[in-house]
This record gives sequence, C-alpha cells and structure tokens, in this order.
Amino acid sequence: MALQAQEAVASDDAAPRFGASQQPLLQVDGIAIRFGGIVALDGITFSLAPGEILGLIGPNGAGKTTLFNCVSRLYTPNEGTILFEGENLMPLSAHQISRLGITRTFQNLALFRTMSVRDNVLVGTHSKTGSNFLSDALAFKGSRTVDDDEITGLMEDLGLADVADRVVADLPTGTQKRVELARALAGHPKLLLLDEPAGGLTHSEVDELGGLIRRIRDEHGVTVLLVEHHMGLVMAISDTVVALDFGRKIAEGTPAEVQNDPEVIRAYLGSSHK
Ligand code: ATP
Repeated sequence: MALQAQEAVASDDAAPRFGASQQPLLQVDGIAIRFGGIVALDGITFSLAPGEILGLIGPNGAGKTTLFNCVSRLYTPNEGTILFEGENLMPLSAHQISRLGITRTFQNLALFRTMSVRDNVLVGTHSKTGSNFLSDALAFKGSRTVDDDEITGLMEDLGLADVADRVVADLPTGTQKRVELARALAGHPKLLLLDEPAGGLTHSEVDELGGLIRRIRDEHGVTVLLVEHHMGLVMAISDTVVALDFGRKIAEGTPAEVQNDPEVIRAYLGSSHK
C-alpha cells in the first residue's frame, strides 16, 4: 500500500470523535517551567485521547518546543505533572518513556545519513526489541530479534520499498521525512511526537505528509501530538488544536474554533506565520 500520494483531508472527516468519557492517553497538568527570568510555560493543561491528533500551535517563542521537551523528558518542569496511561512520567528518563511507547521525531531530521533506508528503519526497532540498536543497524546480522518481513512491510506501507537500499543522504527531504516516520513506527509507538514535520517540504510534499500522518493514526492506531507552524497542515489533520502564546494556553478546540478565536488571530494567525 503506498501512502505517499494521499492528500490531507479536512479534519471534519476524521473517523474518531473524542468524548469526555474516554480515558486520556496523555494528561499534561499544570506544567510550568522557567529559565532564569523567562517563564517558558505557565500552567499548561490539556489531554490527548487515544487515537487523537492534537496540533500545538503558537508564534515563535510561545513554548511549543519546551512543552515537547517536557513530554519527551528532556526537560523537567518546575511545576505540574504529565501522565501517560495514568503513569507519572516525571520520575522517568527519556529512554524509559520510549519503552512505554512514546517516540519523537526531530525538527532537523535525526537520521543516520550515510546508512541505507532499511538500516535507518531497523534502528527504530530498538525500543521494542531491547536490542543494541547501533550494532543491529551496523551489523545487520544482529537483527535476528527483528521481524524483517515487518520492516519490509513498513517500508512498502510508507512508499519506501523502491529506495530501501539507497543511502538516506541521497534522497529528497520529503522521502527522508517518510524514513523518519517509518523508523518511528518500527518501535510500535502508542504516542508519536512530531516536531515541525513539514519544515523544508514543498507544498505537495506537505499534502502528502498530512495524508500519511492521518493514515498512521487510522491504520497503525498511533496517537499524535504535532508541533507545526504550517497552519494548513495543522488545520487539515488535527482533531484538536491547542494554541500557546508567551507560555500560556490561549485557546483549545476544533481547528475551526481555534482558527476563529480572536486571541489566536491576534497572537498568531495575524502574524507572518500564516
Ligand atoms: P519556535 O516556534 O520558534 O520554535 P517555540 O514555541 O517552540 O518557538 P520555545 O523554543 O519553547 O518556543 O521557547 C519558549 C521560550 O523559552 C523562549 O523564550 C526561549 O528562549 C526559552 N527557552 C527555551 N529553552 C530554553 C533554554 N534551554 N534555556 C533558556 N531559555 C529557553
């Protein structure tokens, strides 16, 4: 099944609806973090239901990346808690939360550029297998714990079969983004944290990416927290949008609600980030 030609579809067509009765997968409760005199986050609270795509928006410096870094446990907030399936993430390391099923991608692609597509995807299995991912990737024989058919299927699913043996550095940015997503999916995440995935992509590649993210949710059952400046992408694929400004949550709702929120328009949509 090739995913790459899929177009982003308007969010109103999204299959799941997220009722208040549903147990959240992720609960961010009252997160605050300061760097010296800067209050980067000031009491942020929101939750993600299983299978939800939540878009986090806000102007430069609003606190999006800082929030991501708190959820992925690179930063420890001064106040607040983050629960994943009811478990407190605060005492856990970044490595431990990846074992729980939380995987993140990075704004600047963090791929092994001189390795093949297949080997990069193989690296993603380490959180699932507990294997030494570097030795597995570099000496492919070490990957006996990995289901090669599954890796092949994943690459076919993400439209990477034809480039499986190509070196990543030789591929266009849009294809490299799909490699990063395939690598993330190889670890069977429950929650995928996507940090500005549309950066550096052409208009058609952004549409393609939107369709792909939706299919990752629909077909792989992965919940998605997305930080993105590309408003078209956020509004097309998110079930819920949370807007930040100066470390505070200024709006939360459906894409249509947030898009029409006067404070959001003032803080963000009226700016050059449109
Ligand atoms: P952008 O869209 O430009 O990536 P953002 O919404 O992701 O912005 P953050 O990078 O989270 O914003 O930054 C929020 C605030 O916290 C900014 O004022 C930033 O300078 C500050 N900040 C973030 N990380 C640190 C740090 N490690 N040390 C000091 N200040 C920091």
